[in-house]
Amino acid sequence: MKRAVDAGGRRVEYTLIQTVRSSVLFQALPEGQIRVYAPKMMRLRDIDRMVRERAGELLEMGRAVDRRVEEDRRNHPVSDGSTILIEGVPHVIRLRQGAHAAGHIEEGALRVTVPDPSDDPAVRGVIRATLSERALRRIRERVEYFAPRVGRRPGRVTIREQKTRWGSCSSKGNLNFNWKLIMAPPQVLDYVVVHELCHLHEFNHSPRFWSLVEGQMPDYKAWKKWLEGHRDDLYL
Ligand SMILES: [Zn+2]
Repeated sequence: MKRAVDAGGRRVEYTLIQTVRSSVLFQALPEGQIRVYAPKMMRLRDIDRMVRERAGELLEMGRAVDRRVEEDRRNHPVSDGSTILIEGVPHVIRLRQGAHAAGHIEEGALRVTVPDPSDDPAVRGVIRATLSERALRRIRERVEYFAPRVGRRPGRVTIREQKTRWGSCSSKGNLNFNWKLIMAPPQVLDYVVVHELCHLHEFNHSPRFWSLVEGQMPDYKAWKKWLEGHRDDLYL
């Protein structure tokens, strides 16, 4: 469950996971994400209060995680032969030197051409652009497939590098998706597409909303759970 608190004039969003446990666990993740595991019986306003009290500390922890990720990227540049998930399948990255930057997805391989293969930001840029393009195409196809079934047409469908969300639906009916979904198994991408399309009926997460999602995708819970558990694998 997504929640937000106001901590000294700053809006702090967090993901709440209510589980069978006796204490509260705070987790700072990359890009300012905060995850809170709390006992099922705990009142939401008590959890909000704890997050508010720790907001500064959690955001600082998040920045430390970002610095580690950045350092890790510097120490581990994308190399020839490393792998990346595309539509849930590991693909081998093939780096090649060439005058023009380009990326091509093939069966089991992602071919990346850059003027200087040791220029890691450039390599990542090509990978991001290639996967974003594939993501937009695939997401539009799946929106076309599910929209008539859901019975609503969205406005614009766009792709963005979103920090904390997989998809979003604006009050005008425009849908936005995170390109990193293309790394996940196709059913996960379908789940997010169905989720956002169902918001065109129900602009909330009510039981009625979830029954619409279930109507389109009876096994959606498994894919939702996959996404929650593999956030760190969908990372570049
Ligand atoms: Zn939603």
